[in-house]
Amino acid sequence: MSLSQLARSIKQSPTLKLNETAARLRDKGEPVIHLGGGEPKSKAPIDAVVNCATQLHTGDVRYAPADGLPELKKAIIRYTEEHYRKLVAPENIVVSSGAKQSIMNVLYAVLEPKDEVVFPAPYWVSYPEMVKLAGGVPVVVTPEDGSFHPTVREIAAVCGSYTKVVILNSPNNPSGVMYSRDFIAEMVEFCEKKSLWLIMDDLYNRLVFEGKQAPLAYEFAKDDGPHAKLVVVQGVSKMYAMTGFRIGWALANPELAAALTNIQSHQTSGPSTPSQWAAVGALNGVQSSIASLRLTLENNRNVMVDRLRAFDGVKVTKPDGTFYCFPDFSAYNKDSMKLAELLLEKVRVVVVPGKEFGMDGHLRLSYCGTIKDTMEGLERIKWALDPNAPNELFLGTRKLVRDWA
Ligand code: PMP
Repeated sequence: MSLSQLARSIKQSPTLKLNETAARLRDKGEPVIHLGGGEPKSKAPIDAVVNCATQLHTGDVRYAPADGLPELKKAIIRYTEEHYRKLVAPENIVVSSGAKQSIMNVLYAVLEPKDEVVFPAPYWVSYPEMVKLAGGVPVVVTPEDGSFHPTVREIAAVCGSYTKVVILNSPNNPSGVMYSRDFIAEMVEFCEKKSLWLIMDDLYNRLVFEGKQAPLAYEFAKDDGPHAKLVVVQGVSKMYAMTGFRIGWALANPELAAALTNIQSHQTSGPSTPSQWAAVGALNGVQSSIASLRLTLENNRNVMVDRLRAFDGVKVTKPDGTFYCFPDFSAYNKDSMKLAELLLEKVRVVVVPGKEFGMDGHLRLSYCGTIKDTMEGLERIKWALDPNAPNELFLGTRKLVRDWA
């Protein structure tokens, strides 16, 4: 079979692959603990379910406009006013089948072949593949100081005549860190000065702990005109735990928004209408589920960070938000793929190797599951890696004996 060069250059999504592996092992009755997940376990808000179900009962389920239902755009306008203190118009909004599609559309719309897209490491696994799909070249900036915080100087140093786009994701998947206000302000200024597109992937910006607020790029944007190059991406997946509904959106200047709509209209058409009804319900409904999710995640984060700090040699940066932690396990094994394989094979704990996020030696551990799973998963990892741990561990009724170094 002769697949295209493009198809051959695209890797399978490692996180989706891990979900499949975990599900397969679970089906076989294996006591798997999934610390590799990317979705909160809470239920969708009741207002989302009710609004969707009410409309669904009419049996009238039709194509939606390619850029989203007017009711959903209205809800997004209100949401953006409240949470971004920014007034946008329907012409600025394109609703897609997940924020993933929103980002993909933007890349298709602005990249010429070989244009470069700059983003810091660690990065969301899909960015490099998405850039390649759109014909561009991913350029990764790894903070020199070993932290998860890039500097503007480091980003500026790789921006040349081929650079077209910068993508920032804060709070960040996988590190959980939130970039500083000064950094966001300076990056907005830098991109405006250099006339670069700046995509703010804000998917986790309501899941920030300790009462902190994620800095919003709009606050620092001087160019508010019809050609502004700031694009904000949002969605219901994480903040409302509505991953399966597949609704995200981009806020962009009207010309770009029209281009995104055209691209999407030939690709998938407008997103599924029942999902959009659910998103309208979530955005217009009672908002307490976000605060409640945030509180649960903050508690889980505290437990995870405390346990990790008890590991000899593991370096932990406390996440400011999201539901991920990205500890450095290189003292145990610099090869994160091997380490993740060992943990799955020996103690049935699913983690994502840091290599997939552009930082080997780290593991991405999710704390979006139950506190029980979080604690037991970490206990198993510690047992598997710590040479001073007792030789035996029970997984349910199965006795494991540590027979590896
Ligand atoms: N951006 C980031 C940083 C993410 O982690 C994800 C989901 N894992 C997305 C975008 C896409 O989200 P969705 O397509 O579910 O809206």
